[in-house]
Amino acid sequence: MSEFTQIYLDNHATTPVDPRVLEAMIPSFKTCFGNAASATHEYGWAAAKCVDTARKKVAESIGSDPKDIVFTSGGTEADNLALIGIYEAYKGNGNHIVTTKVEHKAVLETCHELERRGAEVTYLGVDKEGYIDLSELEKAITDKTILVSILFGNNEVGTIQNMKAVGEITSKKSVFLHTDAVQAFGKTPIDVDAMKVDLLSLSGHKIYGPKGIGALYARQRSPRIKLHPLLFGGGQERGLRSGTLNVPGIVGFGKACELAVEDMKSDNERLIDLKAQFLSRIQESFPKAWINGPKKNGLPNNISLTLPGYKAPDLIQGIKKIAFSTGSACSSDNPKPSYVLSAIGLSDEDAFATIRFGLGRMTTQEEVEIASQEVIEYIKSNPK
Ligand SMILES: *Cc1c(COP(=O)(O)O)cnc(C)c1O
Repeated sequence: MSEFTQIYLDNHATTPVDPRVLEAMIPSFKTCFGNAASATHEYGWAAAKCVDTARKKVAESIGSDPKDIVFTSGGTEADNLALIGIYEAYKGNGNHIVTTKVEHKAVLETCHELERRGAEVTYLGVDKEGYIDLSELEKAITDKTILVSILFGNNEVGTIQNMKAVGEITSKKSVFLHTDAVQAFGKTPIDVDAMKVDLLSLSGHKIYGPKGIGALYARQRSPRIKLHPLLFGGGQERGLRSGTLNVPGIVGFGKACELAVEDMKSDNERLIDLKAQFLSRIQESFPKAWINGPKKNGLPNNISLTLPGYKAPDLIQGIKKIAFSTGSACSSDNPKPSYVLSAIGLSDEDAFATIRFGLGRMTTQEEVEIASQEVIEYIKSNPK
């Protein structure tokens, strides 16, 4: 990364590819170049074998059966397939969906599309740390509800929902539970059976894997989930996702999933330390600063920092040595405050004074030191 002059602290937007993932992928461009659906020759068999191995790794990392994994182009497609797929397959049973106000756009905008198709959607609010109220969730489920979709780890403020408690409620009420685990995966242990999750979205490029690959876990037994596909064609992925498989991407994604679980404990310990260092430095010189999201047990790499009196675009302009984003990366050219920061109760002014740092597996202690110094210097030379 020597061509870059900035320190990369935007790991919620995307992560660099882990060298071990790259090492697994490179030979796959040669050894698994075949079409995994070509059943009549060695080239196809080799590709299918690569896909099988990767599928097992993905499945193992969330405690699922390999048959329950559908490879997609990423988290957005997995979210779309879960929501649209369930709605179109089960709308005869009911048209109601329960989700939250703090979902990623990939879920929120899909819900808006489903509203245009006749769905009714309840958007649950959250408390000031970003948690949903479980009794409110339970009350929101009616006999028309077919799906509950709850973001596992929040990409802006780092809240990790209690998915096991959510799963208890949805299974008791016999409605399907989908969770977008794109940010939570690799940060908190996931077991789809223990959590009674029926559908779960993953993305390669948020876990040090390649872009353009992800997966939807969709439970195939007790209960067996039907999904209406988004794409039609050759019938790959049991007809759920037609299109020639992205074999090198899948190989890299499988490796990234394996590493995410193997390295979770050590990654998290390191990230928690780095985050604490960063924050204590900043709060020492600017005690009015605060962080959003849970005080404890949030995503260990997430730092949503409000610097009251400042404006995020000025901070981005002024703190040139660091690559970071305003409160929400996905709406950085949107003049409205982040809907997530509004949902946790920030005023518009405070939301506009919020920036997000995302630490990562490659972030070093030295980088965190420089980054905190840069923020402090900016505050000192632009006092409010
Ligand atoms: C990045 C992200 C997505 C979208 O994933 P892509 O693979 O980029 O399509 C969905 N949900 C969350 C929480 C994300 O952070």
